[in-house]
Amino acid sequence: MNLIGEHTDYNDGFCMPLAIPQGCDATVSAVDDPVLEIVSAQRDRPVEVELARLKPGALSGEDAWAAYVAGSIWALIERGHELPGLSVTIDSDVPVGAGLSSSAALQCAVAAAAADLAGVHLSREELVAVARQSENDFVGAPTGGLDQLASVFGDAGHVLLCDMRSLSVESLPFDLDALGLTLLVVDSKAPHQLVDGAYAERRASCEEAARQLGVRALRDVGLDDLEAAMVTLDSEVLRKRARHVITENDRTLAAAELLRAGQVPAVGPLLTASHVSLRDDFEVSVPEVDLAVEVLLAFGAYGARITGGGFGGCAIGLLEPAQARAAAIGVEGAFAGRGYATPASFTVTPARGTHRLG
Ligand code: ADP
Ligand code: MG
Repeated sequence: MNLIGEHTDYNDGFCMPLAIPQGCDATVSAVDDPVLEIVSAQRDRPVEVELARLKPGALSGEDAWAAYVAGSIWALIERGHELPGLSVTIDSDVPVGAGLSSSAALQCAVAAAAADLAGVHLSREELVAVARQSENDFVGAPTGGLDQLASVFGDAGHVLLCDMRSLSVESLPFDLDALGLTLLVVDSKAPHQLVDGAYAERRASCEEAARQLGVRALRDVGLDDLEAAMVTLDSEVLRKRARHVITENDRTLAAAELLRAGQVPAVGPLLTASHVSLRDDFEVSVPEVDLAVEVLLAFGAYGARITGGGFGGCAIGLLEPAQARAAAIGVEGAFAGRGYATPASFTVTPARGTHRLG
């Protein structure tokens, strides 16, 4: 889950995710035939594919979910690792399609378990690369790599400051329990629409803005150059998209400074500013999530924002635990009042990333 730094990853920028206690368990065993059997505890029907037919596009329609699993196996094979026929079972309690990276949790777990079985040692960086290759090249989702980095490097009691150009990761103290704070996650259950097309459109706008500004990526435009950039860009849409990315990178680095100084509640206003920017400039929020943010703030959150790629998904708020309980009830009431679907709220603290069980 991302604390701050949204839609910055594919701009070579900065983001600040954490791993949540929810996760995906992957169990892998060798089978005699050269096939990949895929079972999900969250799906009725298993999927089987011959290893020889394991190519991008091989799984579609009703079996499309299994591409997330198959992609990690495919990426390992593409990198020259020899794998036997496999049976892979996954079981996840990460809400699916809510912007909490259920796909990355799954891909990282499967890649780590399969590599383990095959006696392949993968560094954490390689594991991120395998899971990302799975999502980008096998599933065909042009995501920016933040989710896989967060899943693998997740560190209990810390958030991760990620530089998405160098792919370096710095753990920063974010020990909510010790501070008497919590992150409330509100899954808005808002229906996703046009997600793929809109995401690709945002990416294309950012690339076009970088081109017009003569930089490799929007990461290369600092806050000091914001005004000049606004003059150079040739459309209002590009100005808004670029303004979000430029200010979001700055907010993320500012949040890192505050966390280094132990000033966790002071991060709150940056979270809220991030939301406003994502809502008004990047235009990826939806009324349900905006309402959740509004209610979280009304219940005394230090800050609140949409998290994940947007177009639905979750709001998060930084609160004291007693406030969080009241806010969860408040959000539910506000949603009912507007006739929205019933949201699901739960608190999280930073947890450990991909690891071997048992
Ligand atoms: P997010 O990563 O925000 O949850 P994505 O759209 O990136 O949303 O990934 C969600 C997709 O991942 C699902 O549509 C499904 O294909 C796959 N997925 C995730 N978890 C599971 C699971 N436990 N069983 C089967 N498929 C899953
Ligand atoms: Mg995902």
